[in-house]
Amino acid sequence: MAFDYDLFVIGGGSGGVRAARIASGEWGAKVGLAEESRMGGTCVIRGCVPKKLMVFASGFPGIFEEARAYGWEVGATRFDWTAFRTRLESELNRLEEAYRNTLKTAGVTIHDTRATLVDAHRVRLASGEEFSAKHILIATGGRPFVPDIPGAELAVTSNEMFHLESLPKRALVVGGGYIASEFACILNGMGVEVSQYYRGAQILRGFDDEARGHVANAMQASGVDIHCGTDLMRLEKTEGGIRAVATDGSEREFDLVMYATGRRPNVENLGLDGLGVEIGRKGQIVVDRFSQTAVPSIFAVGDVTGRINLTPVAIREGHAFADTVFGSKPTAFDHELVASAVFTQPELGSIGLSEEAAREQEPIEVYATAFRPMKTAFIGKPDRVMMKLIVSKATRKVLGCHIVAPEAGEMIQLAAIAIRMGATKEDFDRTCAVHPTMSEELVTMRKPVRTI
Ligand code: FAD
Repeated sequence: MAFDYDLFVIGGGSGGVRAARIASGEWGAKVGLAEESRMGGTCVIRGCVPKKLMVFASGFPGIFEEARAYGWEVGATRFDWTAFRTRLESELNRLEEAYRNTLKTAGVTIHDTRATLVDAHRVRLASGEEFSAKHILIATGGRPFVPDIPGAELAVTSNEMFHLESLPKRALVVGGGYIASEFACILNGMGVEVSQYYRGAQILRGFDDEARGHVANAMQASGVDIHCGTDLMRLEKTEGGIRAVATDGSEREFDLVMYATGRRPNVENLGLDGLGVEIGRKGQIVVDRFSQTAVPSIFAVGDVTGRINLTPVAIREGHAFADTVFGSKPTAFDHELVASAVFTQPELGSIGLSEEAAREQEPIEVYATAFRPMKTAFIGKPDRVMMKLIVSKATRKVLGCHIVAPEAGEMIQLAAIAIRMGATKEDFDRTCAVHPTMSEELVTMRKPVRTI
């Protein structure tokens, strides 16, 4: 049977774009791709990229303060949100265009519209047009989840944070994950009074406990008013703003309430009902290690599969899918030992097992240090940096590495190479330090602080 396309990709985000580009550009497949919003998806348009630029923008007050303490004369400073937002918008336009051009150069046909499945080999566009495809890739990503409380419509999500008309004076961030914590720091850095409510006992669940505590303390010290064990019951519009009524009995007024309480996979109204594609407990599309669903011609990658919701993971899954199906190179992305960073101030870089997870698994040694880094100790700032290695007693392999420090994201990327190669503690010890740096502590910790 002749198909219109060898591959039809639904979703032009990190996973979909990579899969389409490799299938067409590298392996010569005839590829169509539908994107209902803006090319580049969450990462480029409303995720990693604009967020990191906001992280940069929010870091300057600290830089000015340090510069003064180092002897620089710094004149009056003021943050112009509108100027920043205008530049941000043009940068996102540029990136969107770059993604579009990459796909065009690779020979992919772009449909700027919503697509849904008709059956195992057919898709329908919002225009009513239908196409057949030998393979269909679902790469529709996810969206923010806002719990159904009274007044929820008064809150915004991360999607809206990049388009605010003006910066609020008082903001409440609800949630304890990395997105909530990052935005709490961003707003705080931009001079907004920030409170963060999280219903759990400590923010950044899933990361190493000591690292979480270290980040939370530093955030609190820099002015973020964190309330753990606190959730919102309702929001009410007031004359001056939004009243937030919380489970701890408090009622406080804010100008902006941002919800960052998790994300849900985009599977609704996709035409999946009755097709045989399995949907998991969290609404995610269930796939095997080659990203194939229970229907052989339908694959799924990225956040919609809920494996590890990070851009580089979606990209690798998309690439592996294209190599497997169109390049005769069966490739399964290995989800073990994926490093990640939380761009709070200070940052948290992490790879492998937390101390808590590792000690459930096997006997371990814990190496850890916390110290005042040279740059800020010099000017009397109390900031502390934390480095931690979790080591298997049996194999001596480094099972986990957790860094809380400025630029921890950059550091963990490099530590990740060694740890993925199976480096032992003795390999770290044999590595000569680079001096004077913060990361040299990773290779100079000689005695375990705990053996468990
Ligand atoms: P997406 O990038 O979400 O792309 C899916 C695309 O499909 C969207 O463009 C959507 O419009 C389109 N679509 C959906 N349904 C249809 C349809 N029926 N028809 C046509 N098009 C459709 N990850 C990191 O690695 N580092 C970070 O620092 C980081 N920061 C983040 C910050 C925020 C605020 C958020 C929200 C996410 C962040 N992420 C980060 C996560 C990262 O953005 C996602 O993991 C990544 O974008 C997932 O890629 P994807 O291809 O699965 O989906």
